[in-house]
Amino acid sequence: MKLFKAQKQNERLWKIALLALLSLLSLTVIVGCNATANSETAPEDTQRPILVEGPMPIEAEEFAERLENVEKETSGIYDFYIGTVDDYPVIVVKTSKGMENAAAATAVAVERYNPVAIISQGTSGGHDPSLDVFDIVLGKRTVNIGALKTGDRDENEGIEPTEWIPMDLMASEGSAGEDPDAENIRYYEADEELLAAANAVKDSHTKGKVVEGTIGSADVWNNEVDRINWFHEKFGTSVEEMETASAAQIAKAYEVPFLGVRILSNNKTNDGEYNPNTAEVNQEYVYEIVKEYIATHLAE
Ligand code: SAH
Repeated sequence: MKLFKAQKQNERLWKIALLALLSLLSLTVIVGCNATANSETAPEDTQRPILVEGPMPIEAEEFAERLENVEKETSGIYDFYIGTVDDYPVIVVKTSKGMENAAAATAVAVERYNPVAIISQGTSGGHDPSLDVFDIVLGKRTVNIGALKTGDRDENEGIEPTEWIPMDLMASEGSAGEDPDAENIRYYEADEELLAAANAVKDSHTKGKVVEGTIGSADVWNNEVDRINWFHEKFGTSVEEMETASAAQIAKAYEVPFLGVRILSNNKTNDGEYNPNTAEVNQEYVYEIVKEYIATHLAE
């Protein structure tokens, strides 16, 4: 009987020892894995890419061709050209036109590539008569000029676009119909350091002026000069196009530094005819901004 008891106790001790050994082993494996994961992610943290967005082929491919060591990846209809500028990682994404494409391409890029900064660039139409085709607007502010709430009118009382009220899409907690907090113009501010880099190289753009201003975006091409003037006065827009505010909204949602850079390809307010060559010229300037930003903010 005694012998049997001692044997049982011995068995129990062995079991405890084995369990302790096993947990020690698994702990070593977990710690080991973490150590390799950390040493693998460390260089990436200091080399997060700059993301440059352009909607149409003429607004993205010129920059993509300037990249070195390029590889192309595609997600949906969004083409990502992954390469380097001055040995620093830069990704150009061809987003396609419009607010939804710009937002989706930005969100995919943030999730996949963790960019350190985002520049949305391309062509635009002038709202300011003092700006000519080939002038460039640095978006100190960006605003969605399609986010509007109409006035309260019954049947047969007509349509009054000039009464429409701006709607803040970031005020998402309350109702757009009832919440007075949502009746504000939402401006997305440019990142100060990106803006400084753009200003630092503005002399490289020789075909027109470079000014700071307000970029207005919507899935609309406005050709009514009275309506353009209304936006210019009420929202302070310098130019309009179809992507920047939506990319800025997503950049804001993820807290990624952002800048819009838009060249005028047309200006209805001063008879500036559409010129597609502006797209290429804008990319040449944005390339200088990227180099400047890398040299002043990202190089070790
Ligand atoms: N004229 C071009 C139209 C381009 S479509 C063509 O026929 O192919 C619109 C694209 O140009 C969008 O990506 C938008 O960002 C930009 N754009 C340039 N000028 C614009 C304007 N006046 N209004 C709206 N978008 C404009």
